[in-house]
Amino acid sequence: MPYVRAHIWAFSFGMAGLLVARVFEAMIPMYIKMGIDSLTEDKPGLDLDSTATQDALFYPAMAIILCVISQMLVTIVSRILIRRIGMYAAFDLRNRIYHHLQLQGPGFFQQYSIGDLMARAINDISLVRQVIAGSTRMTMVLIFTATVGLMFMFSLSLQLTLAVLIPMPIISIVAYKYSKKIYDQSHLVQEGFSDLSTFVQENLNGIRTVQAMAQEKEEVGRFAEVNQQFADRNLHLFETTSMLSALMPALAAAATVIIIGYGATLVSAGDITLGTFVAFFSYLGLLLWPVREVGPLVTQWQRGASGTARLFEILDHAPEISNHPAPQYPELTGRVEVQNLSYKYENKDKFALKNVNFTVEPGETIAILGRVGSGKSTLLRLFVRLLEPTSGQILLDEHPIDGFPLNTLRDQVCLVLQDPFLFADSLGDNIAYDNTDRESDEIWKSADAAALRDTIEDFPEGLKTILGERGVTLSGGQKQRTALARGLVRMSPLLILDDCFSAVDTQTEEHILSGLKRVRRNLTTMLVSHRVSTARHADRIIVLSEGEMVEMGSHKELLAKGGFYADLEKAQSNASRLLADLETPDD
Ligand code: ADP
Ligand code: MG
Repeated sequence: MPYVRAHIWAFSFGMAGLLVARVFEAMIPMYIKMGIDSLTEDKPGLDLDSTATQDALFYPAMAIILCVISQMLVTIVSRILIRRIGMYAAFDLRNRIYHHLQLQGPGFFQQYSIGDLMARAINDISLVRQVIAGSTRMTMVLIFTATVGLMFMFSLSLQLTLAVLIPMPIISIVAYKYSKKIYDQSHLVQEGFSDLSTFVQENLNGIRTVQAMAQEKEEVGRFAEVNQQFADRNLHLFETTSMLSALMPALAAAATVIIIGYGATLVSAGDITLGTFVAFFSYLGLLLWPVREVGPLVTQWQRGASGTARLFEILDHAPEISNHPAPQYPELTGRVEVQNLSYKYENKDKFALKNVNFTVEPGETIAILGRVGSGKSTLLRLFVRLLEPTSGQILLDEHPIDGFPLNTLRDQVCLVLQDPFLFADSLGDNIAYDNTDRESDEIWKSADAAALRDTIEDFPEGLKTILGERGVTLSGGQKQRTALARGLVRMSPLLILDDCFSAVDTQTEEHILSGLKRVRRNLTTMLVSHRVSTARHADRIIVLSEGEMVEMGSHKELLAKGGFYADLEKAQSNASRLLADLETPDD
């Protein structure tokens, strides 16, 4: 309703037009009656050469032509009006869903797959549009037609009209019974469509893995199963709707039988004229047309209803992270305070982060080091509120982060993710993703700091090079450095890098780290790594193990302490010495 209400005037106009068109249509049998009766009562006979017959038929014939033309014109205008509203409503709904999806947190995307969301945003919206533009219009047309038809019938003969209505309760009960079944079955069909869409989406995303593992045949087989299930559900729905569509005309035929039998008796008894009897048949057509259309209409409505339910399930899903429309905060200096921070994933028993405390001063570079699974990424996600802490809090310049409007927070704290995502756009626009108006010197400066200049210059089109979907035209390390440049270009008071050097060799890494220090001299940077060679350049190092902070200090301090960090340093430098030996075999 709200989506239609925005266009209520055009909608009412369209509906009124439909009503007027029905009235024109309903007037036609009246003129037929007039013609027949004038021939039979005044007895000029059916001699078409006689002027008396011609005069008697001229007026009704002209009136019928006028009615047909008027009905046609009004119907065309009304239809266009109502279809446009359906289109606009779908347009608004699509925008709203898209906006709503942008606000959702990780829990939501864990619950709904991309394929499912795409199916809802495309298929279900189109079902809703059909209801607004098609089924609503058709239902209104049918209600008007039946009402107008009934009114004329009552005016012609009360007895005959009442007799015609006898089968109607049975028709209503049958239609009601079937509509419930159709709703359930179309819900299954739409879910099946979501499954299909999810399957195709995942398969195509992973197509390189599928081919590398030679799983094409198996994937085709798995797809066939999902496809078969979708087809079966459709078949069930077809069976039900066909049954209903066939039953309705059969029940309607009963009314025709009543008119032939009872109507003929009334004519021979002289209760009604022959003209009335003929006109009655035309009106019966108006009354029974809706009955015949009940099958397809109920189907459309129920599919639309189930589509609506699926859309509103998404729209009613409140974003997990509450957004404070708080006043604007001043520019941050980049001071960070982490207090008793703990986090537990819903589907895990163990805490991913346990009671972490530390402070970072403005301009410091902090390395966070720990084995895979030690909670580094979890800690960083808490900083931009991709997750909400189970307990404890994070302060930026004395302000708890949940007091910031989300946009402000994410503007001031820039997180570069571990698995970078690049858009199918130009290299330059990928770096300047947050603001495509950036000057090219700004972009080059951050590209230099991220050791990306050579890569860009290798492409004949430079920054204008269009990347494939998800950046398939770049190597893993190039993708990471592009994402890093995207983070650097913002010059935010707090930059957080989640393992951005894992696919970069040690030499390039050194180069990047020195570039980073140069570009972000007075700005706070936190970087995650599992390599001592990265961490040693930081002002301070925080060591995480199983979600707990076990050590904190400078490279020298931690080496002197001889704990986890020192052990790791020893292990990694041994490993790199071994590697170096392999590369330069001495014979
Ligand atoms: P790191 O980045 O140090 O490798 P993470 O922070 O990614 O570690 O993970 C810490 C722990 O939390 C791991 O045990 C991991 O399995 C778990 N974990 C990470 N993400 C999720 C998630 N979405 N749901 C459940 N557990 C998770
Ligand atoms: Mg990680």
